[in-house]
Amino acid sequence: MNESYMNEWKKEFGIPYPKCKMTGQCCKCASPSISTVELLKKASENNDFAREFFSIFTPYKTIEEAKRENSAWVERCIESCKKPNNKVSEQDLYFYHCIYVSEDNKCLVWEDRPQLCRDYPGSPFLVMAPGCAYEQWSQICREKYKNLKVELEQLKQLKQELDDLKYQQRAINLLARIQRINNKDYNLMLLMPSISLVSPGKSWIKIF
Ligand code: SF4
Ligand code: SF4
Repeated sequence: MNESYMNEWKKEFGIPYPKCKMTGQCCKCASPSISTVELLKKASENNDFAREFFSIFTPYKTIEEAKRENSAWVERCIESCKKPNNKVSEQDLYFYHCIYVSEDNKCLVWEDRPQLCRDYPGSPFLVMAPGCAYEQWSQICREKYKNLKVELEQLKQLKQELDDLKYQQRAINLLARIQRINNKDYNLMLLMPSISLVSPGKSWIKIF
């Protein structure tokens, strides 16, 4: 598993990462978060993840076949496709099983398993299998992310208010400067415009 990635959530937000329960669900009924067409395209472009994926996973012929393996997870993935902003549509949803998983959920190539298996799940935003060790971790991380987004919006709003206040303060300062300029010295300068200069940010300067 991608411990360094999960460590970030632990380090930054104190969310501990769990240990895989070795249920084999993600080996027997995987569904990548991009469409098969896109994944094939990536594989043809030598994308490491896509190439590794097709080196171990083979697709179920139908959704019904995948459901016979893990109907709860398949249903969960289908439901997730209906959410707004989901990049994978239900028609693009394919399920795969690894050629190296045994009947009793053991990985037959554990020591040499590909990087994508070591990295899984890698992100709390994936659809997790029911009962997966990372299910609750994913929910806590998502909740944290949602709260952080709200806090960020509040910070942006406060910054805007601060900028507005600064603008108001600047207007007050300018008004004070105008009032300072508009005194008897200024009146005197008006009488002698040929012998005066304007200094940036200051009031009138007399050169004689
Ligand atoms: S290679 Fe092993 S860990 Fe990876 S999907 Fe297959 S059985 Fe699971
Ligand atoms: S489904 Fe979750 S708990 Fe089960 S093997 Fe995969 S990562 Fe581990």
